[in-house]
Amino acid sequence: MSAYNDRLETKFIHSSTSHDHTEHNTGAVNVPIYLSSTYHQKNFDQFGPYDYSRSGNPTRQILEDTIADLEGGQRGLAFASGMAAISAAFMLLSAGDHALVSKDVYGGTYRLITEMLGKYNIEHTFVNMTDLHETSSAIQPNTRVLYVETPSNPCLNITDIEGIVKLAKANDCLTFVDNTFMTPLYQNPLQLGADVVLHSATKFLSGHSDIIAGLAVTKTEELGEQLAFIQNSFGSILGVQDAYQLIQGIKTLGARLSQSSETAEKIAVHLNAYSLISEVYYPGLSFHDGYPIHARQSKGSGALLSFRLPNKPAAKAFVENIRLPVFAVSLGAVESILSCPATMSHAAMPEKEREARGITDGLLRLSVGLEHADDLIQDIDQALEAATQGMNTKGILL
Ligand SMILES: *Cc1c(COP(=O)(O)O)cnc(C)c1O
Repeated sequence: MSAYNDRLETKFIHSSTSHDHTEHNTGAVNVPIYLSSTYHQKNFDQFGPYDYSRSGNPTRQILEDTIADLEGGQRGLAFASGMAAISAAFMLLSAGDHALVSKDVYGGTYRLITEMLGKYNIEHTFVNMTDLHETSSAIQPNTRVLYVETPSNPCLNITDIEGIVKLAKANDCLTFVDNTFMTPLYQNPLQLGADVVLHSATKFLSGHSDIIAGLAVTKTEELGEQLAFIQNSFGSILGVQDAYQLIQGIKTLGARLSQSSETAEKIAVHLNAYSLISEVYYPGLSFHDGYPIHARQSKGSGALLSFRLPNKPAAKAFVENIRLPVFAVSLGAVESILSCPATMSHAAMPEKEREARGITDGLLRLSVGLEHADDLIQDIDQALEAATQGMNTKGILL
């Protein structure tokens, strides 16, 4: 770590390149890809820093040190996917422990908690974490962790991280935060008192829809040791080629996310003016629920927004007429990605559950990429026009 107080945008570039990594002193500006599973030990009874690449690899190490530096934590760990990182964090718990979990967590996390943790006798309760009273009253004597996702998917609900941390500390619990949507550029949960930060680096951190990767950062060295032990035991490490690609992706995170966020804000404001759209969810809109909390704990509003069309035919017409965004799951890439949560990420959820969470058939989520804002807005306008034409004022197809 340097004596200078570099800003994150600078660290994105230099955390992985500011020092010479190789003993060969080549001056290469990019990190070498160490394709080696094993390492020669120079002495019979004194081993070097690396012995086997599941336990440690120099390329992966640079990525792990980089994310630790960016999040301001003691230890960073790189996993084969976001879910591998999240699963590893839950393995910090023991049989008999209880986890209190934000009710609108990512679908894969929901599946892990509901289908897997029970087998190991780890209990859970889902709770509305935007409500600190409700959260507080759901804490049990055996609760060990409060698990937060903010803003959440797909309605961008805001949880007060410091409020949750306060509750956790008062009850001897850990706080885990999935920081995928904000990235270290906009939100630093460890600074707000959280213990473990988790990322699907598949999204904004890598940024090009090319790799699947996960990262975890711990506040303390002790938790870092425990998580590293789990990583090595389960073996769900990130491969070196992907580690290299993720290091390169992180370098442009500042430029990418700030431009995408600026465009997302323009689009959110633009969509909000349409009468066909009953709701726009974007943390940067002053009337968004939790706006003051988000503004306090985050430095930006991000590149994700959701909006509600009246019904499925309208959403279908919109999707079939949009030209630029790809229609796909995932988010956080250079290309804009449009998805329909009801039929994609939340398809497995019973309709009643879905609707109770605001995930109606007409809800669409947009991850804004790096296309020119005016082109995206023009495209959205023509797709909305097409969606409107098939419909009368009550939103029913003619
Ligand atoms: C995608 C995602 C995950 C899961 O990450 P993978 O890399 O797909 O395993 C977890 N949390 C959030 C918020 C996500 O968007």
